[in-house]
Amino acid sequence: MADTKYIFVTGGVVSSLGKGIIAASVGKLLQARGYKVTIQKFDPYINVDPGTLNPYEHGECFVTVDGRETDLDLGHYERFLNIQTKKENNVTTGRIYQNVISKERRGDFLGKTVQVVPHITDEIKRNIKLLGLKNKFDFVITEIGGTVGDIESLPFIESVRQLRWELGKNCFCIHLTYIPYIAAAGEVKTKPTQHSVKELQSEGIQPDMLVLRTERKLSADVLRKVALFGNIDPSAVMQSVDVSTIYEVPVMMQKQGMDEVILRKMNMPVVGKPAMDGWNAFLQKRNDAKKEVHIKLVGKYVELPDAYKSITEALSQAAIYNDRKLVLEMCHSEKIDDENVAEVLGDADGIVIAPGFGSRGIEGKFVALKYAREHDIPSFGICLGMQCMVIEYVRDVLGLKTANSTEMDPQTEYKVIDLMEEQKHITNMGASMRLGAYDCVLKKGSLAFQSYGKTRVQERHRHRFELNNDYKERLDAAGMKSTGINPDSNLVEIVEVPELRWYLGTQFHPEYNSTVISPHPLFMSFMQAAAETKEIKTEKKTNE
Ligand code: GLN
Repeated sequence: MADTKYIFVTGGVVSSLGKGIIAASVGKLLQARGYKVTIQKFDPYINVDPGTLNPYEHGECFVTVDGRETDLDLGHYERFLNIQTKKENNVTTGRIYQNVISKERRGDFLGKTVQVVPHITDEIKRNIKLLGLKNKFDFVITEIGGTVGDIESLPFIESVRQLRWELGKNCFCIHLTYIPYIAAAGEVKTKPTQHSVKELQSEGIQPDMLVLRTERKLSADVLRKVALFGNIDPSAVMQSVDVSTIYEVPVMMQKQGMDEVILRKMNMPVVGKPAMDGWNAFLQKRNDAKKEVHIKLVGKYVELPDAYKSITEALSQAAIYNDRKLVLEMCHSEKIDDENVAEVLGDADGIVIAPGFGSRGIEGKFVALKYAREHDIPSFGICLGMQCMVIEYVRDVLGLKTANSTEMDPQTEYKVIDLMEEQKHITNMGASMRLGAYDCVLKKGSLAFQSYGKTRVQERHRHRFELNNDYKERLDAAGMKSTGINPDSNLVEIVEVPELRWYLGTQFHPEYNSTVISPHPLFMSFMQAAAETKEIKTEKKTNE
C-alpha cells in the first residue's frame, strides 16, 4: 500500500476566510475519487480543548463520538465527508505543551533543555502523523488554525516546513488568502495576497496551491499575476467566489480542477470521474425547494450564528430533503415573556429549544414551551432544551410550580433535573462532562422509534445534569413518556408527548450526526411535521 499523503491548509491576510470549508472541499473531492480521507485541525490557542470556551469566543463546541470537545470545523469535516472524526482530529497548542510538559516531568528528555524546536515541533509532527499511522488513510488533510504571521502559529508552520522536507512528494501545501475589491478604485487588489505568500515563504514554506477568496469573479490576468508573484503554477491558482451555500464550494473547486492538480503534483493517478451524484442531487434539491418552512430557534446566543452551527446545518439539510426552503429565525430566550410570546412564536411551523448552560434566558424557554405545547406547534428540545421541556411539563401539568434543575436552583424542592451521580465529586471543569456517544434503546411504537426505524441508536452527549428518575413514572402517567433509555445507566435520553403532533426532547445532541448525505432521522421527522403544520395553516387560511 502507498504511503499516506499529507495536505496542509494555511490561511493568510485575514481570519474567517473559510479555511475549514476549503479543507473539507479538498477532502470531499479526493473522497469522491475513491480515496480514503480524513481531516484534522490544529488550533494555536493555549486552551487544552475548546470545551471551556464561551460560545462568544469560539462558536459551537463540536463533540466527537469518542468524547472530545473540539473546534466547530470538525463539524464541517463530518458533514462534508460523511465520516466520524475522533480525538486525534483536533489538537491545540495547549495540548501539545501539556504532553511535552508531562514527558519532561516523567524524565523522558534525559536531562536535556526542553525547547520549542525540536521538542514542541516534534510533538506537533507526531500528532500530525498520528492519523496517518497504519496506512488507514490515503490522505490526511491538516488545517492550521489562525493566520500566517501570527506569533502563536509559528511552531505549527515550522513543523509543516520540517515535514515538507521529510515527506517530499507526499506533502502538499494550500494557502488560502483574500483578494479585496476596492470600490473607490473600482478594482481588486492582489497586494495583501502577495505579502501573505511572502510571509509564508519567509517562514520556509512555498505553497503548492493558492485559493483566493473573493467577492467578485477574478479575471485571468489577476490569477496570472498572483501565480507569477507567488512562484506558483498558474493551474494551481483557484478562486473561491462567494456562493449561496458552503456546499457549492467543492463543486466550484472541482470545476477549476483542484483535485486533478493536487493528484498530479503528488504523483497519484487521476482516474475516472469523481462520484459527486449524491452531493449534486442535494444541491439540485436545494435549488428546487421553493415552498418555505418557518422554524424558530429559541436560545440565548441569537447574535452569534456560529453558536448553533450544527443545529442550523441539520435543520437546513432536513428542510432540503423535505423539499422545503428553510426560513430560520433566532429568538432571544431572554426577551420572550407571556405578553409577547404569541407575537414572537405565533407564526412558527416548528420550534427548536436550544442547548446551553446556566440560568440566563431560561424562563423564556419555559414560556416558549408552554405556548408551543398549548398551540400544538412541533417542538424539538435539545439537551438543555429537553431538560426545559421536562421542567415546564412538571410545573404546568403536574402542578409543581417551583420545579427546576439543580443547575439553575440548587435548593429547589422538586429536583426534576439533577446532577448525575458521577458528576457530584468533579471539581475540574475541562473535559469532565458526560461526553461522546452512548447507546440509547428506543421504545417500540414511539415517535423516536418511528423516526429512526430501529430500536438501538448511538448519539453524542455533552452535559452534567439528567432527568431525575424519581419523576419518571409521574411524568409518564401525565403524558410525557420516556421513550429512549440508556441500557447501561438507565438514564432517560428521550422524552416525548404522544398526544401532541411532534413534541420531543433529547438529552443528546442529534445535530452532530447529521450530514449532507445522511440527514438526521429526528431532524427529518421534525421537519416533516413542521412542513405539514405549514400546509394545514395555509389550507385554513385559504378556507377562511
Ligand atoms: N446545562 C445542561 C447540563 O449540563 C445542558 C447542557 C447542554 O445543553 N449541552 O446538563
